[in-house]
Amino acid sequence: MNIILLGPPGAGKGTQARKLVDERGMIQLSTGDMLREARTSGTEMGQKVAAIMDAGELVTDDIVIGLIEEKLAGDHGGGFIFDGFPRTLAQADALGDLLEKYGTGLHFVIAMEVNDDALVQRITARSTCGNCGEVYNDITKPIPADNKCTNCGASDFKRRADDNEESLRTRLMEYYKKTSPLIGYYHCKNQLQWIPGLGEIDEVAAQINAVLDD
Ligand code: AMP
Repeated sequence: MNIILLGPPGAGKGTQARKLVDERGMIQLSTGDMLREARTSGTEMGQKVAAIMDAGELVTDDIVIGLIEEKLAGDHGGGFIFDGFPRTLAQADALGDLLEKYGTGLHFVIAMEVNDDALVQRITARSTCGNCGEVYNDITKPIPADNKCTNCGASDFKRRADDNEESLRTRLMEYYKKTSPLIGYYHCKNQLQWIPGLGEIDEVAAQINAVLDD
């Protein structure tokens, strides 16, 4: 089963994708994580996208479609969770073609409904474990007092360079201008399922599982 988690920055796509990986053996394909990895390892592409990402703008379709194609050619595991991809109509068309090329398809598009005030609050308070990616929040899930990740025990917490109010404003505008048309696109294909994205992590996960098990 292949699914897309669709929603604005801070909707909780990454957190829910990680749970699906743990619980269902699915493979998370986050283009944001792939691009951050390219930056850390200092590849030419990583250097090219750094300033665009920090400003909160979208990188070109060619780059992210190329990253996704590389992954689709590999192990399919328990299915793919597309997290932060597609973000434009061109990417959505390309994903459809690629899935067909690799003999599979798209089963659900789960749109996570959240309000913008909650997103700002979530994102500006967000940090992640640099080792395993566990997500923390200064208010709702603070880093433990012993400074060790609850998931892997590492003490390497990071804040994203683009998790600040200015970049977030651009990221939200990019979402509304370029990504939100995907809601209509997948609605017309009868693949869209809305879930409320603002509850507790386990409540949201239960709603997603209810869609997948339907
Ligand atoms: P994310 O981790 O999904 O919030 O992505 C972080 C940043 O990476 C975005 O603000 C964009 O600059 C870039 N990015 C990630 N995925 C895509 C995509 N599918 N298309 C274009 N840019 C992307």
